[in-house]
Amino acid sequence: MTSQLIGVEHRKTATSKTAPHYDVIVVGVGSMGSAACWFLAKRGYKVLGLEKFTTPHEQGSHTGQSRLVRKSYFEHPDYVPLLARAYQNWRLLEAEMTSTFYQPTGILYAGKPDHETMSGLKQSAAMYQIPLKKIPPSEAGSQYPLFRFPSDFEVILEADAGFVSPENTIIAYSQDAIKKGATILTNSAIDTWKVEAGRVEVKTDSTTYTSDKLIITAGAWTSQLIPALPTSLTVTRQVVAWLDVEDQTAFALGDFPCWLVEDPELGTFYGFPVLPSSEYPGPTGLKLAHHFPGEKTNPDFADRSIQEKDAEALRHFVKNYIPAAGHTFRAFKSCLYTNSVDRNFIIDQLPGYDNRVTVACGFSGHGFKFVPVVGEILADLAMKGRTDLPIHFLRLNRF
Ligand SMILES: Cc1cc2nc3c(=O)[nH]c(=O)nc-3n(C[C@H](O)[C@H](O)[C@H](O)COP(=O)(O)OP(=O)(O)OC[C@H]3O[C@@H](n4cnc5c(N)ncnc54)[C@H](O)[C@@H]3O)c2cc1C
Repeated sequence: MTSQLIGVEHRKTATSKTAPHYDVIVVGVGSMGSAACWFLAKRGYKVLGLEKFTTPHEQGSHTGQSRLVRKSYFEHPDYVPLLARAYQNWRLLEAEMTSTFYQPTGILYAGKPDHETMSGLKQSAAMYQIPLKKIPPSEAGSQYPLFRFPSDFEVILEADAGFVSPENTIIAYSQDAIKKGATILTNSAIDTWKVEAGRVEVKTDSTTYTSDKLIITAGAWTSQLIPALPTSLTVTRQVVAWLDVEDQTAFALGDFPCWLVEDPELGTFYGFPVLPSSEYPGPTGLKLAHHFPGEKTNPDFADRSIQEKDAEALRHFVKNYIPAAGHTFRAFKSCLYTNSVDRNFIIDQLPGYDNRVTVACGFSGHGFKFVPVVGEILADLAMKGRTDLPIHFLRLNRF
């Protein structure tokens, strides 16, 4: 069974202006922060998670019901060993929660054979022996009758790939972290932090908290909290949509795969099967999105309304590639990418703070599948000062 947990408030009212001292404070209990709290609590540390909104919420990078999980990583083959650990840690979460998070629907990739996405995924698969199944063009139509691919496209299925629900994951990690002893306070925005006299001090508008170590997982708000980050981050507004398909069973989970298609003119589109609303709260319908660098925005003032232009490229895509899905949109949501300069993640200790401050940010629209391994890495870096997991290419010294 998939997790059916729903969001809850974990706020406890601080009784004094100065709270107890913690081993570690996690600022931002969203995707990465909730997993960090879980790993830290599991290891027995006294951990405090402070979240500006609720866990989860719709203002940051984790709204929208589903996130692709895949291993033949076209972005950079160095991610593959981290993905192997992420897959293990998804299973660990499932075992501890006796619940299903990862749904291995398979992902169908389609695009011109020499497109960098197609060549990148084949390269990663070859380097790390990841099974991929090439679907001959003559068979693509009969095997996947709901898709229409141009005759010069290559079609590839990655079977051990699929999706997870970001909301269900964050709820599970944060609720179980609390069960394991963590304190997680929602509606607690950090205004300032500093390292002084051998300890960390963070302040909300009403309370000062202290700890030995600090982890900042503030997503789109990272630049506000770390103005001296030695590189820049760009926040973009991204739109996801749900189509009101007539034949829901044909597109249902179990019968229809996740997919990622490279249109030669408009770029990358991706989507998911129709999910049962009992297990995946939110809009029902065929979800799809355009993975393009959306318009730059400020997380505090991002335009959450949906304009006709947001639907244009999606309409064009559906008409050409999945015509059976129709053209009636049922719902839209906007969400934020936090892009690093090279689109690779940033996971490191911040220089100049006596190894007390660890940051994870810049997940550039492809970070969620790594949540369980990033949580582990953050717990390692913050409390041991090092990790055995291969994050050399994600360190700050590359800038
Ligand atoms: C539309 C869309 C589609 C995506 N699709 C995929 C996909 O298919 N596969 C995939 O792997 N990834 C995908 N991603 C990327 C993935 O969702 C993100 O990389 C990931 O959610 C980033 O996690 P985060 O912890 O950095 O940010 P968040 O989850 O937003 O967490 C940051 C948290 O910090 C809190 N915070 C900020 N400032 C403060 C403060 N001052 N005090 C206290 N708390 C604070 C915020 O409220 C927030 O809860 C997608 C992203 C989007 C937007």
